Amino acid sequence: MSIKSYQETQESAKYVQKVKARQHAIIKKMAANISIIVEGNEHFKIKTLEALSLIQYKAPQKYDTVINYINKIKQGQKSWWSESNLIEKTFVFAAPTYSAVTEWYAYSIVHDSYHSKLYHDYRKIHKSSSVPDNIYSGEKAEYACLEYGILFLEEINADKYLIEHCKAHRTVRWWKNENKVTW
Ligand SMILES: [Zn+2]
Repeated sequence: MSIKSYQETQESAKYVQKVKARQHAIIKKMAANISIIVEGNEHFKIKTLEALSLIQYKAPQKYDTVINYINKIKQGQKSWWSESNLIEKTFVFAAPTYSAVTEWYAYSIVHDSYHSKLYHDYRKIHKSSSVPDNIYSGEKAEYACLEYGILFLEEINADKYLIEHCKAHRTVRWWKNENKVTW
């Protein structure tokens, strides 16, 4: 390695370090305002905190639901949840969701917070630890979460394409093939 390329390597390593330090500082600052635990790499944390901030500032009531019904958001290979996730109020999101535009990721979080709300509200009202599947999943629940998400997108003045995309799901049984995979 020549001295010149050695210097360049050192400089680019310094640059990467600087970028990482800046990312870290941004994450710390954003996370300070948000009570939800976010688990994953730096990119995932930034994307998740951006989505949560968007909900917090543009749709405060929806944000109240998000923080009441979601405790933790984790990075995963696919976006999904099961009943045990609902009990723990933990949701997993994969790259196609968290790397998409922030409005779309925010929609997915809001949509899933409503699944959790349906589940926990039933437990509270019926003072029961067992919740029938059709309360929080299946056709009725999915369409309720979809409508709740559409209201959110309208509230934040989201891209018209996204709103239309969601509205087109009113006649699609998307959850059937995906086994509770979210979006
Ligand atoms: Zn859903």
